[in-house]
Amino acid sequence: MSAPSASAAFNASLDVVRAVEPRIAQAIADELSAQRESLKLIASENYASPATLLAMGNWLSDKYAEGTVGRRFYAGCQQVDTVEAIAAEHARELFGADHAYVQPHSGIDANLVAFWAILAQRVEAPALAAAQARHVNDLTEQDWETLRRELGNQRMLGMSLDAGGHLTHGFRPNISGKMFHQRSYGTDPATGLLDYDALRETAREFRPLILVGGYSAYPRRVNFALMREIADEVGATLMVDMAHFAGLVAGKVLTGDFDPVAHAHVVTTTTHKTLRGPRGGMVLCTDELAEHVDRGCPMVLGGPLPHVMAAKAVALAEARTAEFQDYAQRVVDNAVALAEGLLRRGARLVTGGTDNHLVLIDVSAHGLTGRQAESALLDSGIVTNRNSVPQDPNGAWYTSGVRIGTPALTTRGLGVSEMDEIAELITTVFTHTTPRSDAAGKASKATYELDASVAAKVAEQATGLLAGFPLYPEVTLGG
Ligand code: PLP
Repeated sequence: MSAPSASAAFNASLDVVRAVEPRIAQAIADELSAQRESLKLIASENYASPATLLAMGNWLSDKYAEGTVGRRFYAGCQQVDTVEAIAAEHARELFGADHAYVQPHSGIDANLVAFWAILAQRVEAPALAAAQARHVNDLTEQDWETLRRELGNQRMLGMSLDAGGHLTHGFRPNISGKMFHQRSYGTDPATGLLDYDALRETAREFRPLILVGGYSAYPRRVNFALMREIADEVGATLMVDMAHFAGLVAGKVLTGDFDPVAHAHVVTTTTHKTLRGPRGGMVLCTDELAEHVDRGCPMVLGGPLPHVMAAKAVALAEARTAEFQDYAQRVVDNAVALAEGLLRRGARLVTGGTDNHLVLIDVSAHGLTGRQAESALLDSGIVTNRNSVPQDPNGAWYTSGVRIGTPALTTRGLGVSEMDEIAELITTVFTHTTPRSDAAGKASKATYELDASVAAKVAEQATGLLAGFPLYPEVTLGG
């Protein structure tokens, strides 16, 4: 989009909002300034293009469109049909999937749709068959009771949280941990790498209905061909949640054994992380699961968000370009450079490095908790998030790790040499931060000392670094 038209579009939309609620227009404008000024290393965030953002601010939002393309429960959905069909077509062709369902409102929703689809397809439940064969009003209370028992007694095997798995892969705070009997697989304590032999053994013993692959904080590629082999051996459905690395699959950095779509029965994703689209979710699946996946709404989702599906279509079209493939490769090159820069300066990294978009720093090597390290970095203008490391002694709240990722800074245009400067800034913060002790001399897990002048100097250097890589250069607010 040319510079004047993007600026004109955003300024005009802010003027319209300002006339009704000026505080909201101000918050939107302030968010742009805040994002421009922060050195964002949050591995799950990115910056969507102006075209993607603008596709969301319109009257498509006004439509109810429960159902699927051509089979809606509401009249007047022709344009929503067009939008949803184009988004699904881009998704199928980009990822090489049989089927794409682009309605999920978020990654969690996409996973719920996939769980339901697998249950509906796989559970040979007499009560379920009866329920599907008869009218719902004819089912007795006993039928419902049997159905609940059959569906509620299934098993899920997912990556453990401290190895980098996600809450939705069978853990207690999420409904997946309440719906399924859950077991987890983890990483080799010596290397931090996924232990496929142990995973195979657990799968043989536990015999899950669903084997979940994918992660939020594992800094390595995963061999999905091998995971499919394990799933087939034990009769499990392989579901891969590629929320974090979908952009690397789209950009053809993760191919062959590392491409989940080529191997899994069902693949879920968010659209807003490495994929650089709007906030949302998506499910890709084989033909056998398509009919069940398409029942996501109303089974577990409300009406689709047509304006967000429009933005997904735009972002997916962008992801089909050679430019996006170059971006995806640079995301990984930058992560590797950042990891190497940190290692050269003495950091301890989980698995010793990375070959995807994220790096997990074990900050206990600096005598810090993840919480202290995250806060000290924030004081210094560097935005990250704390994260557990495998077998974390500090639990999920304080943690011993900080997760950093390169998708956002790569979108801004930062490259390998800037990553080395960032490694230096991070190291400076860590080496000048010490845990505060209480009166009895016990080190705190939350509070810390960091010389304000060091924090200010790092923040100044971070700002200087970003100045060369303006965010949304085509947008001048108030201009
Ligand atoms: N799956 C994985 C692997 C994630 O990392 C996340 C979010 O961090 C989600 C699912 C949930 O995505 P959302 O926040 O869009 O529900």
